[in-house]
Amino acid sequence: MSVPMGPRAREAALRRLAEDEFDVLVVGGGVVGAGVALDAVSRGLSVALVEARDLAAGTSSRSSKLIHGGLRYLEQLDFRLVREALRERGLLVTRLAPHLVRPVPFLFPLRHRVWERGYVGAGVLLYDTLGGARVLPRHRQLSHSRALREAPGLRSDALVGAIKYYDAQVDDARFTMTVARTAVQYGACVTTRTKVTGFLRDELPDGGARVTGAVVRDLEGGAELRVRARQVINATGVWTDEIQRLAGASPGSRGSVTVQASKGVHLVVPRERIRLDTGLILRTEKSVLFVIPWGPHWIVGTTDTPWDLDKVEPAPTRADIDYILEHVNAVLRTPLTHDDIEGVYAGLRPLLGGSGSSSPTVKLSREHAVIRPEPGLVIVAGGKYTTYRVMAKDAVDVAVAGLGQKVPASVTDRVPVLGAAGFEALRNNRRRLAGRAGLPVARVEHLLGRYGSCVEEVLALVEADPGLGEPIPGAEGYLKAEAVYAVTHEGALHLEDVLVRRTRVFIEERDHGLAAAPEVAALIAPVLGWDDDRMRAEIDAYRSGVEADLAAQREIDDAAANAVRLAAAAPANQVA
Ligand SMILES: Cc1cc2nc3c(=O)[nH]c(=O)nc-3n(C[C@H](O)[C@H](O)[C@H](O)COP(=O)(O)OP(=O)(O)OC[C@H]3O[C@@H](n4cnc5c(N)ncnc54)[C@H](O)[C@@H]3O)c2cc1C
Repeated sequence: MSVPMGPRAREAALRRLAEDEFDVLVVGGGVVGAGVALDAVSRGLSVALVEARDLAAGTSSRSSKLIHGGLRYLEQLDFRLVREALRERGLLVTRLAPHLVRPVPFLFPLRHRVWERGYVGAGVLLYDTLGGARVLPRHRQLSHSRALREAPGLRSDALVGAIKYYDAQVDDARFTMTVARTAVQYGACVTTRTKVTGFLRDELPDGGARVTGAVVRDLEGGAELRVRARQVINATGVWTDEIQRLAGASPGSRGSVTVQASKGVHLVVPRERIRLDTGLILRTEKSVLFVIPWGPHWIVGTTDTPWDLDKVEPAPTRADIDYILEHVNAVLRTPLTHDDIEGVYAGLRPLLGGSGSSSPTVKLSREHAVIRPEPGLVIVAGGKYTTYRVMAKDAVDVAVAGLGQKVPASVTDRVPVLGAAGFEALRNNRRRLAGRAGLPVARVEHLLGRYGSCVEEVLALVEADPGLGEPIPGAEGYLKAEAVYAVTHEGALHLEDVLVRRTRVFIEERDHGLAAAPEVAALIAPVLGWDDDRMRAEIDAYRSGVEADLAAQREIDDAAANAVRLAAAAPANQVA
């Protein structure tokens, strides 16, 4: 049985935050912070992680959801970065998270006869080679007619042939939450809706100071906690500059790092609207555009534009949506229209360096930096989702050097995330599991891909109350038991957490989950101790967030969309 992250566990974790002194306090519950917590706790250190909103509420739920080396970094001749990322991809697919990280085939349409096949072919061959042992199938060259057989939705004149290659994909929000839960299994103290508002310091004999912890506000109860730690590791992504200011350093000065945000938008459209057997990668004038299979949907994106407005809910605009439609429609036999769009989401890339909103961000590498601006404080920033584990290891290595004791090296390349152990055996027994729970086999397969071996805990809820084995009305891709499990075990505290990140109803349903919201609120209310007023308030807050998002998408420029989105921001969502 896993250690649950429910309301009672949160109370206990808050008490620990107030009372204990930790070896490491991690600030930020994105994939990097969760990875840092797991790295540190699995070395035997005592660890706390505080997240201002929800696990993965920042960039880590808003990516393209690819675990990849990045074909375009090959073009920038960044072989080291590609090799490192492909090694991580291999580890995740085979050992660390085979239940959550899955191979996905992509088609790279070729537009020029001779040179492009050679050029892209050499790149993809190198990609396969850097990926090491045969973790994923190798690439294949496809003729024009063969490519059209695999991708009948493409215009015949949009390609002269294609290359098919493999990468991997993940539900980014679910993976981040699962890594954080894995840290909890090993003893880490993880809380959400707990925001760092300042740092604790001790004077040093030489007149300097060392960071000895952080001031943390519990955004649910309002209490202010002084959390003591021997090392604080900041992993706040695009909020890194704000944290540096809190620590008294100005971003860009000596011993600091600057993180520039770049907005990337994705659309979600129904699977039947694009006739394709694989994903698709298209060159654009600035970068690449992906069409990525996502259950009964496609995810199409992304854009890449500098952003210096609100970071909590970056707003997609009409211009972002039109850009994506225009580029994907250039190759589609039946163009997509605005009416095909089921969901839209925007995220902010934490790019290292850069100055001001006018500098181009496309050329910056996704590489990361770890700095120690002052004793007791380590900052890790940049990077990409795929390499979160390497970033985490590097950050903990630097923090360990400041602990003044012998600490084992990182073991996270051998620590599978929660749900990985036993997953394959359970998958082989999916028929038996389905029979026992009275569910269709396809449903159990879907659950296995979300929970791995923790599926037993979700199915136990159904066995105890067969009504929880029914699909959620308005969000039929998910069972009622999944909403309950999100609050009993996965740390969800609000309706938004369940509809946006524990499930992906917000981007998968045309109404963004508004029809499902009352039912989901009623399912989770008893666990979270909500009365009718609180339930109504949660539903209203969710509805106004959805309406603000839709209104922002009708605005043509960032400033107007941001103003519309900000006007509806719920207080619980305010971060730094
Ligand atoms: C559009 C887009 C597509 C991408 N696609 C890919 C891809 O396909 N593959 C890939 O490998 N990478 C991809 N990336 C990059 C990847 O998503 C990010 O590098 C990664 O998610 C960043 O994680 P993080 O933990 O650093 O930041 P975040 O996930 O943003 O986490 C930082 C956390 O810190 C919290 N926080 C902030 N201030 C405070 C405070 N004061 N106290 C406590 N907590 C605080 C925030 O709430 C947030 O949850 C993409 C990025 C974008 C934007």
